[in-house]
Amino acid sequence: LTVCSICGGTEFKNQSVLWQRLIEEWQLSPCEVEYIDRQQGRCCTSCGANLRSVALANALRFAFGTDLLLSQFAESSAASLSVLEINDACHVGPTLKKFPKHVFAAYPEVDIHRLPYPDNSLDVVVHSDTLEHVEYPIHALTECRRVLKPSGWLCFTIPIIVGRLTRDRAGLPLSFHGSAETSSADFSVKTEFGADAWTYLIQAGFSNIAISAVEYPAGIALSARK
Ligand SMILES: [Zn+2]
Repeated sequence: LTVCSICGGTEFKNQSVLWQRLIEEWQLSPCEVEYIDRQQGRCCTSCGANLRSVALANALRFAFGTDLLLSQFAESSAASLSVLEINDACHVGPTLKKFPKHVFAAYPEVDIHRLPYPDNSLDVVVHSDTLEHVEYPIHALTECRRVLKPSGWLCFTIPIIVGRLTRDRAGLPLSFHGSAETSSADFSVKTEFGADAWTYLIQAGFSNIAISAVEYPAGIALSARK
């Protein structure tokens, strides 16, 4: 990766973010540890975006059909689109907030299983590393699809371990992403996504799906068109 698709920055620095207990709970191999650390900890020195955020910005640029940097697109006249950001979309959030018709919704005030918006009302729905914490991920994606206008796009990230299939953590000890200090049950990980993550979108009713990757397999974002 040479250019940050959010701000145009060209310098990146690495920081390791995983800790031993999470590595054990998640049963990550050394190579998986390395790419998840890059996904979350390799950051643009100008805007702070990690690879996960750069991948999400690329998914949005794909959805918008633009080659502009996301920050340029947000300030251009094309940015009259209504954008729903569900929970803080990491380093993409500040740019999304520049869209004139930006809507922000955060848990627990807004539950992704019951979005308080009419059918067919939004152009784009965005979330970042939220779906793995949700009780019913297919239901949540169905709800994202419901509020999208026809031809609207859902763009999001989840941590994906590409060498295995998705597993439900039900019955396993509680596990948390974010930091070693996080411990509220609301933010525990419910689903550890694997190579079949895209099938959740199909089951939620989407039929056209795209994957945006940077430094595969470190940065992956999914997008789906209604
Ligand atoms: Zn940047």
